[in-house]
Formats: sequence, C-alpha cells, structure tokens
Amino acid sequence: MIQALGASDGIAIGKAFVLPHWEWELPEQRLDVGDLAKEFDRLYEGIRRSKTEINQMKTELDEAVGSQESSIFDAHLAILEDPVFMNEIQGIIQRQYKVAEVAVKEAIDHFVTMFDLLDDEYMKERALDIKDVGNRLLKHLLGAPEIELPEDSQPFILVVRELSPSQLVHLKPELVLGVVTMIGSPTSHAAIMARAFGIPMVMGVEGKLAAPISTGELVIVDGGTGVLHVDPKPETVSRYTEMRKRQMEEKERLLTLAEVPAITPDGVTLTLAANISSFKELQAALNNGAKGVGLFRTEFLYMDRDRFPTEEEQFSVYKAVAEKLGGHSLIIRTLDIGGDKQLDYYELPMEENPFLGYRAIRFSLDRKDLFKIQLRAILRASIYGDVHIMYPLITSVEEFREANEVLDAARRELEAEGHEFGRKIKVGIMIEVPAAVAIADLLAEEVAFFSIGTNDLIQFTLAVDRMNEHINHLYEPFHPAVLRMLRAVVNAARQHGIPVNVCGELAGDVRALPIWLGLGIDELSLSAQAILPVKECMLRTKAADSRSLLGELFKYRTAGDIRSSAERFYAEKLLTSATDRIAP
Ligand code: PEP
Ligand code: MG
Repeated sequence: MIQALGASDGIAIGKAFVLPHWEWELPEQRLDVGDLAKEFDRLYEGIRRSKTEINQMKTELDEAVGSQESSIFDAHLAILEDPVFMNEIQGIIQRQYKVAEVAVKEAIDHFVTMFDLLDDEYMKERALDIKDVGNRLLKHLLGAPEIELPEDSQPFILVVRELSPSQLVHLKPELVLGVVTMIGSPTSHAAIMARAFGIPMVMGVEGKLAAPISTGELVIVDGGTGVLHVDPKPETVSRYTEMRKRQMEEKERLLTLAEVPAITPDGVTLTLAANISSFKELQAALNNGAKGVGLFRTEFLYMDRDRFPTEEEQFSVYKAVAEKLGGHSLIIRTLDIGGDKQLDYYELPMEENPFLGYRAIRFSLDRKDLFKIQLRAILRASIYGDVHIMYPLITSVEEFREANEVLDAARRELEAEGHEFGRKIKVGIMIEVPAAVAIADLLAEEVAFFSIGTNDLIQFTLAVDRMNEHINHLYEPFHPAVLRMLRAVVNAARQHGIPVNVCGELAGDVRALPIWLGLGIDELSLSAQAILPVKECMLRTKAADSRSLLGELFKYRTAGDIRSSAERFYAEKLLTSATDRIAP
C-alpha cells in the first residue's frame, strides 16, 4: 500500500496505462534561400492545426465542465498569436536557415529558460504553457503520433509523471477510471479537472514505489484517502470492490431523499445549503437537494486563471449562480486568499505563519482596488437572485466598517455610472477567529448574519495548525472550548435577532447534528455529498432530544466524553449504517 496525496475522491480499480514520454527527433538539414517561403507555409499550417485542436479541446471541456476550466486553453491560443514568440521563431528560420521544427524548439527553450530563471511563480507557469503549446506545434510539424490509447479501448487507470489539462481531455475522460501522477499538487489544473470529471486521483507517488508501474498491471486508486495499491492481493481487490459498490449504493439510496424536506420528527427545520467554489459545482449540489448556497468560495475564481478576474467575468459567474438558484439564497464570500490558498500570478509575501498573516479580509482591505471590483460585480449580480455578501476572517468591528466603506464606494460608482444593482443586499461575516466570538455581541449589532467557519475557528481556538500532520490528533472539533465558542456566538446572535449559519466541514459531520439542532442554528452549508447524509439523520432526530443531549455535552470536561456521547446518540438514531458515515 502506498500513501500519497488524495486529489479527487472515489475508488477506481483497473489496469494501468502508463503514458510514455515522447522524445523529439529534430531534422538537422539547413534550408536554401528558395525554401524559405515553403517553410513559412509549413509553420503557418502547423499553427493553424494546433489552434483547431486547442479550440476543439476547449469546446469539449466547456461542454463537459464549464467555461471556468476551459479558459485554461485561452492562454494557449494567446501564445500562438503572441508576436514576440512568433517573431522569435520566424527570425530563426529567416536568419539562420533552420527548419521550422528546430526554430520552434529553440524558441521554446529560449523562453522557458528565460521565464524559469525569474523568481516569479506566474512566469514559471507561463513557461509550462509555452512548453505545452510548443510541443503541440512540434507534434504537428513533425507528424508525431498522437498518444495511443490502449488498443482494446477498455477503460484504464492513467499513470503519468505529470498530467497536463490537455492530456486529460485528449485521453477521453470517459475512458479514464482513475489517475496516478508521480508529481504534482492537488491544486493543479489537472487535479481541478479530475474532480470536475469525478475521476478518482492520487498524486505525488514519486519515491514511494518499490518498482515502476507497468502498463497492464492492476492498480487500485482511492482518491479519498490518497491510497494506491499496485498489483494488489485478491483479498484487497475484493475489499475495495465491495467498498466501491457500497459507496455507489449508498449514493443511490440517499438520492431518493433529495426532494424530501429537511425537517425533524418534531417539526424543526434547518436549511441545508451548499458550499461551492464554481458554477459547475452547483449542479451536483442541486442534485443533492441543496436549498441555496451558504458559502460561495470565490477565491477559486481567482485561483483558476492566470490573472485577476475582471468585474464582467465575476459578474457573469455570480449572476449565473444566482439565477440557477431560482430564489434560494446565495451567500457570496469575498476573496479569502492567503494561508494555503495562493495565486499563481500574484506573489503574496513569504510568511512565517501564513494562516495568521496577510489573508482574507486583510488582503482585501489592503488592495481596495481589487476588493471594489469584486463588490461591484456582486452588487450588480444581486438583482438576479437573493444574494448576500459575507466577509471572511473578521476580527474587529473596524474591519467590518472599513469593508462596508468600500462597499458604499462601489455603490456610489455604480449609481453614477447608471448601472443597475441590488439596493438591499445583506452583509454578514464569517466567525472564524476567537476575537470575533468574544465580541460577537458587538458585531451582532452591525452585521446582518453570522456564518461560523469551523475549520478556522477550531484551529485558532485550539492553536492547532490544521495543515500540520504532527499535531493532527489535536485538531479536535468536540473540544469543550469549541462547544463553548459555538454557544457564545449563538447567544449573541439571538440577543440581536440575527441568523447564524455554520459552513465549516464540521457542518457535514453527522455526529455534530444534535449540536446544531440543540443550539438552534438556522442554516448548515455543506459540501454536496454531505447534504443527504445530514438530511437523513435530521429526519430521525428530534430537536427536543438534541437539546437535552446538548445540555449533557456541556457538562463533560473532556473532548473524549463529548465525542463518544455524540457518537452514541448518533448510533441510536441510525443504527443500520452508523459506522459508515462517521467521519474519520
Ligand atoms: C472555515 O474556515 O470554516 C471556512 C469555511 O473557510 P475555509 O475553509 O474556506 O477557510
Ligand atoms: Mg476559513
């Protein structure tokens, strides 16, 4: 068993197809003066074919997963039209009498070396794009073979050193059961796409394999846990086959609850909304019965491209989501960049403690120019639905007011420009920092709603970095301190009559449901796949029982006691498949 990085959820079992490396063999002959015109024609024909191919992939990807992902290829098309890149190639042919493929190869090497030398992540990314496009052009000039899929056209598990988005599209995603990469990160474009296609994926197995994987070898990919098995024993195969079957059956069974109202046996309702990070994810959320979006993580709109998104680009995404929700509420969280979320094209400072650093609302208040663009886009989109604004990582009343000043400036600008925009937009905040909990009563006087971000709130309350594997065991959602934080937030909100939502991962942990019901939370915002398990549990859990349980939980002094009591309660409600759904 190999433990690598889980990049896209799900289990895949199948034969490996190892993508070979293609080595270019470049012709050595020199051109005569009389050949130049013909050589340019060859070059232009290669460019034309490359463009057609890129456009084709873009359309396919657009239809499959949406324009956000397919915009990767716009950058590739732009390179083929870039005068500097093209002049370099033409100059080599014209002045050095080299054939088109040699000129292209030398131009790629020239720009890639130049960009690689710069200490700038954005430029390094551009170098990768140039390599990708340049190789495509070379392929057309050299008449190199396409990647040959396994002859039997049977679905396979792709094993590749590093996956590029174009490779994944070219390989026909419907044939790819799973993906294993030697290097790469789960935030890469290819990983984003694998998730969009629902293809299980593990990354970063380099240095962990006893021997290289060969084509035809049986492998098991568990993208949820990041586990890879190569040439597994028959009993492992049966275990994973069974696990995969159960995962599918469970999904099917739960889908029958999608349209059932989320209501406890004693008549208490709790809105179950979705966390999304792109328009494309909305469909899965709606299929799972999401009633609105409680957290739109807009940073992915900023991460999945090579520059800051324009107002128009943001507006069209926010508008599309608002319209698709058909009147259900949409909470758009303003940019939460920093911490573990970086932008390829904008270098954030190197920090000792990035989670405590220049991030989220702090970044927005420092870059009010960018912040205002986002707020203008949200204000304009808000006439298409029930849209709310939410600021992340608020620690003081001043921050909230300063952010609202930018919002007012955005309103004034739109007004002066004659744009239509929503005038009654509600503005709330995330409660993610103990300081915000401590002054929740003061904040509640000014904000329209609270949304508790348990991911950050737990790490800051317990001083446990959630990314640090050495102290992972100390990241304890059922710590009595966390419980008290939650209660303090709800009490402050009640006193001031504002709603409280929960949108961190703990919202999707079925064991925590009696805590939300007991506290009287208004809305849970969950990842799409967590909605139905939580709803099923709600249908069997009385709010009154939850309140009594919560009273008990507050008496315990240790996380262990709180957790086991919550688990016992949960097991009593859903005896049949309790252990399947308890989060690890
Ligand atoms: C949270 O901190 O709980 C939250 C929802 O924000 P994120 O996970 O995006 O930091
Ligand atoms: Mg957070």
